[in-house]
Amino acid sequence: MRHVIAIDGPAASGKSTVSRQLARRLGFVYVNSGTMYRAITWEVLRQGANAHAPEEVAAALARADVTCGFDADNESFIHINKKAPGAALRDSQVNDHVSLVSAVPEVRRVVCDRLRLLARDRDVVMEGRDIGSIVFPGTPFKFYLDASPEIRRRRRAAEGQSDAIDARDKMDATRKAAPLKIAGDARVVDTSHLTLEGVVDAILGILRPLGIPSQ
Ligand code: C5P
Repeated sequence: MRHVIAIDGPAASGKSTVSRQLARRLGFVYVNSGTMYRAITWEVLRQGANAHAPEEVAAALARADVTCGFDADNESFIHINKKAPGAALRDSQVNDHVSLVSAVPEVRRVVCDRLRLLARDRDVVMEGRDIGSIVFPGTPFKFYLDASPEIRRRRRAAEGQSDAIDARDKMDATRKAAPLKIAGDARVVDTSHLTLEGVVDAILGILRPLGIPSQ
């Protein structure tokens, strides 16, 4: 198996920007697992299934053709029925239902399998909620990014998004299947008062002595 750098944390903790930049500095590919849960949520809603009913969610997923891979920029993509959901992934409808859909065990199983396949023969930086705890518990490179709720709310608002991150975090942290939590051996980085470069440099500084040099 290749190297997996796991970057977990709550909504708007800076995971995506940090992970993408980190992958670039390391020459690794970047995988955003939240995109997969969002794409499946989009499809579940498109089919008119009730996101509050786990069996309807599982049935909608079973009807969908889900494929994942890497694009020319080495970023992961997910296609549903051969189509990229694109900007729809950030719709408020998706924001409002993604935590319900991602709590369904069948959904987690499909995404988890795809994530492991994506990392089979590439070095990856993968971000999410359960990457260090469930998807790749064996990786020695685990980080948990956090920031104060106030700062996270401000960051999301600055992006112009309607996203009830407190409700999403609460659901993500209290669900039965693979809840958001800090893996026992994860290094916690508080991004509240750090710049993007500051966070990336802090992580690179931890990885270097562990044998993961940046380019
Ligand atoms: O990272 P992002 O905020 O786009 O993730 C959207 C949602 O997908 C999260 O709120 C969570 O419900 C779900 N998710 C998850 N496990 C992951 C990544 C995302 O349950 N590894």
